[in-house]
This record gives sequence, structure tokens and C-alpha cells, in this order.
Amino acid sequence: MTAKISTTTSVSIPERMHAWRIKDQPGPISSNPLEWVEVPVPNPGPGEVLVRVRACGVCRTDLHVSEGDLVVHRKQVTPGHEIVGQIVALGEGTDRSSAADEDAAGEGEEATRPPETKRRGSGRLRIGEYVGVAWLRHTCGECDFCRSGAENLCQKSQYTGWDANGGYAEYAVAPADYVYPLDDLLGAEEGREATNGEMLDAHSEQGALYSVESVAPLLCAGIIGYRALKRTGLLRFVDDRAVSESVTKGALSDGNESAATAISRPLTLGLYGFGGSAHLTAQVALGLGMRVHVLTRGEDARKLALELGCASAGGAYDMPPEKLDAAIIFAPVGDMIPVAMRALRPGGVLSLAGIHMSDVHTLNYENELFHEKEIRTVESNTRQDGREFLAFAARHHLDVDTHPYPLSQGQKALQDLKEGAFAGAAVLLP
Ligand SMILES: [Zn+2]
Ligand SMILES: [Zn+2]
Repeated sequence: MTAKISTTTSVSIPERMHAWRIKDQPGPISSNPLEWVEVPVPNPGPGEVLVRVRACGVCRTDLHVSEGDLVVHRKQVTPGHEIVGQIVALGEGTDRSSAADEDAAGEGEEATRPPETKRRGSGRLRIGEYVGVAWLRHTCGECDFCRSGAENLCQKSQYTGWDANGGYAEYAVAPADYVYPLDDLLGAEEGREATNGEMLDAHSEQGALYSVESVAPLLCAGIIGYRALKRTGLLRFVDDRAVSESVTKGALSDGNESAATAISRPLTLGLYGFGGSAHLTAQVALGLGMRVHVLTRGEDARKLALELGCASAGGAYDMPPEKLDAAIIFAPVGDMIPVAMRALRPGGVLSLAGIHMSDVHTLNYENELFHEKEIRTVESNTRQDGREFLAFAARHHLDVDTHPYPLSQGQKALQDLKEGAFAGAAVLLP
């Protein structure tokens, strides 16, 4: 039986906090569409938790939200959906202590409880625990997509930092069912919790694979890149002996059991654009034994690619030194599609990782589409993708190239991202 866990919840939470929010209308990032404001700290509703933001990654999607490339879903929204936070308040129905009480209550009582009041799997959170809050924050759970493992396509889905306030703030609220426990990555101590009204300041460094700062980019850049890699179909060729045992074979094999042994040479993958997401995806692909070719305009990014072990790094519109089994475009540039399609082998797949892209003009059928080449888009991710990727990251250390900014420099970080001022991922630190 689970030991009863004490219910210390006396964390001091201020009444007001600093946050960035989009002004009445989004606009070009050079025109400063965000404003730095002081607002009340939000209250967690039923099924939600309040986290104190310890780090929040800066994603290109935040730029699309700020500039109005994505239609406004919530006026004056606070962007940010790569939140590493520490739980400071539990909304009704989310605390671990009530789960422990249920365990203690015995089977007889459990059996008489209506199913809808049973706790869901992720409802085992505690004050002081580190969690990740990512882009996907709500799905209906009832539609065909939700019921068939494609909740990323749910028409009622909602997103952090677009439909609801995100992590460019000192505190943020998140639905408990959509947060990712981060103990495996941050080396958390079991039983850590608030004492004497104070939060423990830092996670346990002992045994920690990652810092708080380096985990943030994993939560979108990492997860979406992993989804984009899955969408190439290459993972069905990966021999699962090379894969972390924590990642299920079913997920990685794409349901094709025999494919894994069909190709004995290294798979070749092209990555177009090499920022926060691509540099993580490259490491996953390399960890799975693929040969990775990077094609990007930035000289620093090309250098980083080679340092990480990629086989080649060329200009954005160059041809890679060999034909590609698959490619992923991370840059939001539609003109790259024909270029990447020409680089594919027959049967190759191009996966488009971005949520927004400039128009695609013409494709030459013979050279850029025929021979059963395919173009696939990527929309968000499922929670299963997130769990698989974070489990992979817990077993294979990923080098996360981060560029810290104080939270108060959030707008500057977005401007620098737009200008391509850095390779890797910017992270805001409150
Ligand atoms: Zn749904
Ligand atoms: Zn993102």
C-alpha cells in the first residue's frame, strides 16, 4: 500500500506577477507587439495546477502568435509553451494525497464509486514537483481522432500560449492531465515538497541529466521534432535493439515488424533549417544510427551540426552529398519544398515540421514528386509522442544548446529569433 503522503500546501504565493502579453493586436516583432505587465497570479481551477515558472523556452510558434501569422485565439494572450515549472498549488481533484487516500480506502469503496469520479492517470501530482507544460493543453477525448490515437487532430484542441496564457510569466496555470512529470530528467528527490511555507529552491543536482534551462526546449522543439521524425516513416526501419527500452516498439516500428531488418545500411535523413527543434531531432536520429545531413543558411548552425556528429552541413539550397531516405523541413520557407523533394530517393518522405509556412509555388512532377515521394505535414503532437520523446531523452542525454535571457527580455529574445541571431534555443528565466 502507498504510504500516506503529508499534505503540506502552505507555499507562499504572491498576489501579483510580471508577465508578457500581446497588445490588442499582434504585429511585426520589430514593432514590439508584446507588453510587459503586472497582473494577478492566476488561480488553478478544478483539474488544474498552478506552477511557478522556472524556465520557459522561446519557440518559433510564439513568434507566429505575436506577429499574427496564427489567428488570434485569445486576446492579450501570454505566449510560451515550453514551461518548466514547480507546482505551487493544486486545483480540486489533482493532488496526490487524495490519490493515496483512495488507495487506502480499499477496493470495496472504489468499486462503488462511479467511474467518472475515478482519478485519471496523471492526477498524481504534488506541491514542489517539477512538471513540463507544453503546447497541447486540451482535447475533447470523445471524437474519432481522440479515440484513435490522433488527439493532435482533435478539432476541439486547445494550446498553451495561444488559447490560454503561457509561460512568458512568473506563474502559469495548466491542466493536470496534460503536464509531463520531469523527475526522470531533473533528478528529483522522491518526497520533495514545500516545507515551512517555502519552496525548495533548486532541484537535486545529483543524478540530474539536465538543468531546468536545458529541459525547456525539449517540451516543444524536442517533442515536435520527434513527431516530425516519426512522420517520415523512418522509425519503422530502426532496429529496436538500438532504441531505448523505454520507447515502445509499437510506436517506433509504425506497425511494420519486418521492416526493421530490411535495410542494413544507415538510413539517411536531411534536415532543412537547424534551430532549436532540428538540433534535438538530429541527436535523436544520430542516436538511432541514422546518417544526418543538415542544410541551413547559418554558419554557426552548420558548425553546431558537425560538432553534434552530423555527416555533412551545407547551405539551405544545396544538394546533400547523397540521396535521402527522408527529410524534415524546419524552416518556415515553402521554397525549400521542391529543393528537399529533389534530394529524396524514390519512395522518400518529406515531413514539414512547422505550424506555419510561406506558400509553396510549383513542383516539377517528374523530379520533385513522382516515384512515390510523399509530403507530410505535422500538426502538434499527442501526449504519447511527448512521453516517448521525454523517455528517450531520459535515457540518451541530448546536448541542448540554450541561450538564456531574463524573463524581462522576452520580446528581445523573439526579435533575436526572428533575425536568426543564434543557433539552438532561447530560454527565458524568471
Ligand atoms: Zn477530440
Ligand atoms: Zn513550440
